Amino acid sequence: MRIDLHTHSHRSDGTDSAAQVVRLAAAADLDVVALTDHDTAAGWPEATSTAAEVGIGLIPGMEISCDHRHRGVHLLAYLIDPTYPPLVAELDLVLEGRASRLPTTLARLAEVGVELTAEDVAAVAGSTEAPGRPHVADALVAKGVVRDRDEAFRELLSPGRPGYVYRYAADLGRMIGLVAEAGGVAVIAHPWGRNSRGVLDRETLGGLRDAGLAGIEVDHHDHSPAARAELRAIAGDLGLVVTGSSDFHGAGKPGYTLGSNLTAPDQLERLMELARGAVQPVNLR
Ligand code: AMP
Ligand code: ZN
Ligand code: FE
Ligand code: FE
Repeated sequence: MRIDLHTHSHRSDGTDSAAQVVRLAAAADLDVVALTDHDTAAGWPEATSTAAEVGIGLIPGMEISCDHRHRGVHLLAYLIDPTYPPLVAELDLVLEGRASRLPTTLARLAEVGVELTAEDVAAVAGSTEAPGRPHVADALVAKGVVRDRDEAFRELLSPGRPGYVYRYAADLGRMIGLVAEAGGVAVIAHPWGRNSRGVLDRETLGGLRDAGLAGIEVDHHDHSPAARAELRAIAGDLGLVVTGSSDFHGAGKPGYTLGSNLTAPDQLERLMELARGAVQPVNLR
């Protein structure tokens, strides 16, 4: 069984449609894929119908922008009821923060002589519900200001760089609670990716487990072999589910190819047992 539990479509910052992500997953010989766009379930209907058509397992999910002690943490939420009002209210705040950040970002870029318009960004952002820095990065690439997303983040969009602007994110502990109330299961995405190791140490993960956290994403592109070994041991000690996934973003993140990291079948079983049937996966019992 080949199981990949973290992918993005162009409903957030991936470059393929939700249907294409599912088709590509089947072509990559995956048996199960989860669509986990940032802060939106907009791609679910398309992903679900395509999965039913091509016969691949599909788990509807979301990667929710959270905040823990003023540091960003991404929370994967699987099989949540996307209409649960308190969850919707919180996601609306996050999406509103994404939309309102863009004009400020453009003004900051203009201050350092980088001329980019909202139309430039809209031209590359397509049908996204969750505009973000990757779209600004793609617009900068299209204008020839930088070579790729990586350079855009490094030079202009990361914290401390001129184009970085804070946006609202949901409190991590509260969101873990909301995911459970919405019938879903919560897994922390790439807990030690991109220098975030200090944010989520063993004690913190233990506290989050007590608050309802189900698992952690151990096998991820941004984790070294040593980090994976340590996280696996922590998950074992704390009784957390261990997942692995590609974090596929299409052409937006070269190297994060579908199936490049996988989740073990018994770990998926555990997640499925914890979910409370708010929404159904496709082609899974
Ligand atoms: P935002 O959602 O606007 O806060 O942007 C965060 C997203 O940008 C994350 O989901 C990452 O996938 C992506 N990202 C962060 N750093 C980089 C980078 N150095 N290169 C490419 N993408 C990045
Ligand atoms: Zn992303
Ligand atoms: Fe992420
Ligand atoms: Fe992601």
